[in-house]
Amino acid sequence: MPSLRNASEEGRTLQSTLSSRAALIVYPINGLMNLHFGAAYYPEHVTPERVVEDAILMQEAGMSLVRMAEFAWIRMEPEEGIYDFSWLDHAVETLAAHGIRSLLCTPTATPPKWVMDKYPDVYQYHADGRRREFGARRHYCVNSPSYLQLSKRIAHAIGTHYRDNPNVVAYQIDNELMAEDPYCHCPTCVAKFQAWAKDKFGSIDELNRRWGLDFWSQCYRSFDEIALPKLNSHQNPSSTLDLQRFFSECFVEYADLQARAIRETSPGKPVTHNICSCGFLYKLDLNKLGKRLDFVSVDNYPISFTFEGEYGNTGDFDYHPSYASMAMAITRATKRAPFWVTEAQSGRTLRPRKLVEPGLLNVLTRQELAHGARAVLYFSWRTFPSGVEHMLSSVLPSDSKPRRTYREIKELIAETTKIEKELSSLMPRAEVALLRDFDCDWALDDGHPHPDFRYLRHLHNYYQALFENHVNTDIVSPEDDWSIYKVLAAPSSLLIDEARAEKFRRFVSEGGTLVLTCLSAMRDMDNINRPETLPSLLNDLCGIEIEEVLPLKFQDKVKLLSNDGTPHEGSYWFDLLSLHGAEALASYNEQWFTGTPAATLNSYGKGRVCYVGTVPDIPYLRNLLGTLCSETGITPNVTEASTPLLESLRVLGTDGAIGEHLHLINFSREEQSVNLHSPYVVIPENREVSGRFTLRPFETILLRKA
Ligand SMILES: [Zn+2]
Repeated sequence: MPSLRNASEEGRTLQSTLSSRAALIVYPINGLMNLHFGAAYYPEHVTPERVVEDAILMQEAGMSLVRMAEFAWIRMEPEEGIYDFSWLDHAVETLAAHGIRSLLCTPTATPPKWVMDKYPDVYQYHADGRRREFGARRHYCVNSPSYLQLSKRIAHAIGTHYRDNPNVVAYQIDNELMAEDPYCHCPTCVAKFQAWAKDKFGSIDELNRRWGLDFWSQCYRSFDEIALPKLNSHQNPSSTLDLQRFFSECFVEYADLQARAIRETSPGKPVTHNICSCGFLYKLDLNKLGKRLDFVSVDNYPISFTFEGEYGNTGDFDYHPSYASMAMAITRATKRAPFWVTEAQSGRTLRPRKLVEPGLLNVLTRQELAHGARAVLYFSWRTFPSGVEHMLSSVLPSDSKPRRTYREIKELIAETTKIEKELSSLMPRAEVALLRDFDCDWALDDGHPHPDFRYLRHLHNYYQALFENHVNTDIVSPEDDWSIYKVLAAPSSLLIDEARAEKFRRFVSEGGTLVLTCLSAMRDMDNINRPETLPSLLNDLCGIEIEEVLPLKFQDKVKLLSNDGTPHEGSYWFDLLSLHGAEALASYNEQWFTGTPAATLNSYGKGRVCYVGTVPDIPYLRNLLGTLCSETGITPNVTEASTPLLESLRVLGTDGAIGEHLHLINFSREEQSVNLHSPYVVIPENREVSGRFTLRPFETILLRKA
């Protein structure tokens, strides 16, 4: 059976064999290199006898890990101070007898009724002053002193009980932090925010100045006058940016409180958390969260995945594998390390979506593993008998008979195990990075630039264009070292200060290619319009001035013409640019601004800067980024793919012993083909291939460079 090594194990080094500006990336491995398959399991829903039958079926499927108990507080502590782990002990030991270890969770996403009755300050309050009542989940205030104590106590109890149990190998804290409306407006939160603001600004005059509160006579006379900002379009945008910073910090502190409680009682066992919304969660600064965890996990639902919930979008969308690819890149970036998928999609979702047809689970799983997942736990083992998620899919249906989903998972585990050695030793290596800045996302969240514009959608456009060029892309934060990348795209980098401008300048002057876009370098870090000519502090770098910034009405488009005469369209927003050293790559093609530059390229130091003045269609971005990558010496993983529904991912050994490999994943139900740029060997058959290579419907292939 695969084993987890100690979390304190030193990190290893990934030595790139690709040409690169700096060919070294450190991945802290933390003993997570072995592959595990399993499921989210709920023994509290079934009889002890059924747990035994489930363990047998899991073992027969090749599973080795389950996650349990993230909502089971009422079973662990039915009355305050009275603990009962007997039912969980039975499950842990029964599963272990069949070779299956356990990831146990703190159950704090669902405080039981006795908590709420005895400690009413735990209740969260909505922005309109209503109390969030018992009956759903996450009805707690993250700053409630009572809840902090209760959370620490239950984490201590779990950590103490399973401290010496070798079958409990890791802990998950809470569940999908900040997934639901996380902003609490209770008196505790108001007072804590006031203290946070006082600590940040020092004096009320400084707060009034930096929030720009002379507008609409909003100045405060003292910190205790400050109302907790509400997220709506009429609130001061500087205050709402700080509201989002404040609550993100509160939840990171809350995660840290639980992580420390586990480490105090179960030293040496790693602590993780399951990031919601496939990593597209934007309310919680994942980079700061990651620093408090030993490794990160993600709940990944590629088929249901839209930005709904995150952005209130209830519309459907066209499935494209680049969404889940970007989700995995986000997760990998959080600690620049391997991760676990604590909830993997097993079939249908709560809402009608694309059918999960035979073969699709195999490609979804391989995509997760290729990007660095070391455990894939399907959600959930059996259809929930009750509750709001009783229509969610599962490995087993309610009658517990193994059917198509179980058989497919069993088969894919068996096939994957044949290449476990390679899969568990490889990580993606990218020469292109996409900058994700949570501050910019939050500052653009008020709908002021355009009610339909969304920061992460804009980033995804760039990710998709690179995906379709078969170029690996990493996600980076403002604090990361960008110098190891040849190309950095930083869409909608709204907030700028001299330090950020200097970091952009240094990246380019040392030879990097930087892509900036509309809605960039307009405001300072307090979300106040900057007084300089746009793009602020970056005129010299970009070789342009922005003459006008213009939003587009609803679904209107602006016509573009690339320099080769190809027509394209822009959405949401467009800048009218004048050239001050840059050359035009595309121009607008309508109204009074026909012929005005829409995209530009400027040389600076040893590098170049491309400025894209609108949100162009994907074909334009695909051509633009493909050309920029090619001119920068980046070789695509493959060429001439017969479908955009095919992912190629170049991966390298994490210990230097395994050289360059290539994952090919066909997400379509038809046969597809690509051109390989050099000879490869198919793993594990050791069959040599080169040139045009064909994949069967939903086929996944791992190739080793010959
Ligand atoms: Zn509160």
